[in-house]
Amino acid sequence: MKSARKVSRIQLGRPTLEGAGVRLLRAFGNADPLLDPFLLLDDFHSDDPRDYLAGFPWHPHRGIETITYMLHGEVAHGDSMGNKGVIRPGEVQWMTAGSGIVHQEMPQEPPDRLLWGFQLWANLPAQQKMMDPRYREVVRRDIPEVNTREGAKIRIICGQVEGVKGPVQDIVTDPEYLDVTLIPGAEFRRSIPAGHNVFAYLIQGAARFGPDRQAAQEKHLVVFEKGEEVAVSTERESARFLLVSGRPLREPVAWRGPIVMNTEEELDLAFEEYQNGTFLKNSKRH
Ligand code: FE
Repeated sequence: MKSARKVSRIQLGRPTLEGAGVRLLRAFGNADPLLDPFLLLDDFHSDDPRDYLAGFPWHPHRGIETITYMLHGEVAHGDSMGNKGVIRPGEVQWMTAGSGIVHQEMPQEPPDRLLWGFQLWANLPAQQKMMDPRYREVVRRDIPEVNTREGAKIRIICGQVEGVKGPVQDIVTDPEYLDVTLIPGAEFRRSIPAGHNVFAYLIQGAARFGPDRQAAQEKHLVVFEKGEEVAVSTERESARFLLVSGRPLREPVAWRGPIVMNTEEELDLAFEEYQNGTFLKNSKRH
């Protein structure tokens, strides 16, 4: 049997005000060697529209990918390339900002008022920071679900489980993004490529992580050390968590708001370009 990765730390998300006044929980939001290539994970979960209706009006991104996964409620979006749409429950929008995109993301109020979703930021390597922007819109039926013998139900957004591939492919940092639900009394193990970083974010219930079976609950982030497998077990409760891994970039990170580059000079240039109207390299005329 492969050895299980040790848990480096378990932390509770930090309440954060983002966009035009959206109250959310920031699971993490910093350049951490054990989370590289991931930079940020926001959990927006509220049944009070005052917490989210202000939304995220027009803003730029460069140098990163933003991955939005909705569980409940809807987010309407529009961007400088002329794309327009709605991210619905169970759907994913994988946006590669690359050289630059200006967009807005506006949560809508559903009849039951509950909005629940996640936004993950993945860094782009220096070589790809100025690549052409692109979108992958993934609808619910395109996200396969696998039930394993260990008592896990896995929605595969990106990656491969028991021969079943998720819809998002050809991402530079070779990430895996799984939504895992464990029944009570489950013993789950998942092999992660050596050298890749991995974290779990608990979205429901409680589970134990790593060889020392450290307990974590809802809204907690579990960061693993380097190694092989990830081990998760449940006792009387079921658990649902996002399990995300990727190949670290090990490059310098220069980060200012929605733009992440390698140097301060590149950041200055990006904001200068945004000011003088030359930020977008790929805007379609419409
Ligand atoms: Fe954004």
